[in-house]
This record gives sequence, structure tokens and C-alpha cells, in this order.
Amino acid sequence: MSFQIAIDGPAGAGKSTIARMVAKEKGFIYVDTGAMYRAMAYYLLCKGVAMEDEDAIGRECAGARISIRYEKGEQIVLLNGENVNGVIRTEEVSKMSSMSSKHPKVRQRLTQLQKELAGTSDVVMDGRDIGTCVLPDADVKIYLTASVEVRANRRYEEQKQKGIECDLEQIAEDIAKRDEQDMNREIAPLKQAEDAIMVDSSYMTIKEVSDKILDLCKDI
Ligand code: C5P
Repeated sequence: MSFQIAIDGPAGAGKSTIARMVAKEKGFIYVDTGAMYRAMAYYLLCKGVAMEDEDAIGRECAGARISIRYEKGEQIVLLNGENVNGVIRTEEVSKMSSMSSKHPKVRQRLTQLQKELAGTSDVVMDGRDIGTCVLPDADVKIYLTASVEVRANRRYEEQKQKGIECDLEQIAEDIAKRDEQDMNREIAPLKQAEDAIMVDSSYMTIKEVSDKILDLCKDI
């Protein structure tokens, strides 16, 4: 049996930074499931599928072959054999991924891939439904969250540092909308698993959060 650490939570709570640190410390692989939903969304956008067109999402998603591989410890997402890491972090892909991830066929395909990965390696997996659906028997489950204001501010600072013009209010609005969609969808909504430990990172440094989570994982 492999070891499994599940980290769920809303966009911008710091899941990927923390999951990567924990995976490195433990010698586990880091599986970023959001990147898989993003690759699927990117595929659908390339196919010209409209965000609201559920029939087309269900039909077209079958053409996306998504897999991952690791290069120097970094997860590379392959879409029909091509590395798409560089094109899946745009706002358009974020919005499409939040819409297309509601679809049962999209979820079914990606959940299966995630379960297979966790069956063969020790993993730190982050996403929205890892502790509730993908790995219900995970050894440690964390629900990492932060207030909308704090998450929007972090995103704003990140964008500013990259020299990208952005509007704080718009970012906060987009984050709140994505939370709303992720928490209220019918299948596998974002929620804290009953046996998950909640960590609110709003007023914690990255080091404080990773120390706390590593402490929670010290027995595995
Ligand atoms: O984590 P990230 O922001 O990259 O995820 C993009 C979108 O993918 C989320 O807004 C969510 O709708 C979807 N997602 C999901 N289940 C996961 C991971 C991501 O539905 N396990």
C-alpha cells in the first residue's frame, strides 16, 4: 500500500506551494490535479467549445488524452502527448476549468487517472475532492483555506511581480465566483472531508503552514 496525503481547498489558498514542499520533504510525488482539469479545459477551448455548452463538453472531452510525467521532480501535464504546462495558467483556462469540471464525464476520466497514480506511488495530491472522492482512505487529509481578500491579494501581488496589469477587485470577484461554482456543483463539490484537518493560512507564513502540515504528517 502506498502512502497518501490529500490537500483540498479553494483556489489561491497555497495548496500547490505547500503540497510541493511536503512532497519534497517526504520523498513522495506531488500530483497537481487542478493542472489536469486545466489541460482538459485548454483542450475544450482549442476545440472551440463554449463554456456553457454542456453537451459539447461531454462529447468533446473524449478526445483529450491526459497523462502526466515527471521531469526533475516537476509534474508535466501531457495533452495528447504534448506538454501543456506553459499554456494552462491563463484566466480563460481558469474559468473554463471551473465550468468543465462540473461535467460527470470529465470528472470520471480524471478521477480514474488520479486513483491509478496514487495506487502505484506515495503521493501528496492536491485539488478540490481528493479527501472526499479520489482518496477517501488517505493517511492524512488537510483542508487548506484562506479568506477571499487574502487570496485575491496574493494573486494580485504575484501578477504584479510578473509585470502583468491587473485589478484587485476583479481578481477577488473571479475567485469568489470560482469558489461558488466549485462548492455548489452537483458532483464532487469542494468541501472539507469529515476527517480532514482545517488549516486557515490567512495569517500564516508559508513556513508556518508547511511546518504545521509536516507535523501532521510526521507519522507516515
Ligand atoms: O487548482 P486549480 O485552480 O488549478 O484548479 C482549476 C479548476 O479545476 C478548479 O477551479 C476546479 O473547478 C477544478 N478542479 C476540480 N477538482 C480537482 C482539482 C481542480 O474540480 N480535484
